Amino acid sequence: MKDRKDELAENLAKVERRIAAACTAAGRKREEVTLIVVTKTYPASDVRILAELGVRHVAENRDQDAAPKAAACSDLPLTWHFVGQLQTNKVRSVVGYAGSVQSVDRARLVTALSKEAVRQERELGCLIQVALDADESGRGERGGVGPGGIEELGELVARAPGLRLDGLMTVAPLTGPYAGRELAAFERLMDLSTDLRRAHPAANMVSAGMSADLEQAVAAGATHVRVGTSVLGVRPRLG
Ligand SMILES: *Cc1c(COP(=O)(O)O)cnc(C)c1O
Repeated sequence: MKDRKDELAENLAKVERRIAAACTAAGRKREEVTLIVVTKTYPASDVRILAELGVRHVAENRDQDAAPKAAACSDLPLTWHFVGQLQTNKVRSVVGYAGSVQSVDRARLVTALSKEAVRQERELGCLIQVALDADESGRGERGGVGPGGIEELGELVARAPGLRLDGLMTVAPLTGPYAGRELAAFERLMDLSTDLRRAHPAANMVSAGMSADLEQAVAAGATHVRVGTSVLGVRPRLG
């Protein structure tokens, strides 16, 4: 059996080549795009190997899995991003290890994150999750706020003690007008980011693109891509 480290190194190199090629095609510098490896469903031992291979950003979507993994890897120079739907009763745990929460999508969550960040004396980066399958003022089926909700939520985060407004995140929608049109969806997210940065110039993170559509995200201008499957393999279960 092939050594896991060799396998992950090979996969990482492939993803790295894809990102580099997409940057070249878009006339962007490679340094403009940060790779976040989504380690959900994979063990802490894989996270450790990834850190040895130079990965510095990892993401998880369920606190039950992420909390013990982050604890087992607390000696590693990693930033943990939380990218899943977040219940307020998990906020205390998540703020304990996450450097950023990319799935901020409602006022109650902002209040809870702020309170906990202050209590733990941490500064937490926040991205507003945008649902491009939702109505302008609606909410996404898999979390996220419709484009019309960004400004108000962004303002709330920017004013909240302990929180830092970092930018926007989206997942390419499976339904609605952007279904199957990843590039158009990510370009829409970029336009929304431009709007947000008028009031909040430092909120310049644009997190978009996964294994299947990272090229489109880089083409649209994403600053962060979140890649799971292409680095770690097809997940053994839903997550
Ligand atoms: C799982 C997940 C990813 C990674 O998806 P892959 O297709 O495995 O690359 C990215 N973003 C979010 C929010 C996820 O839940």
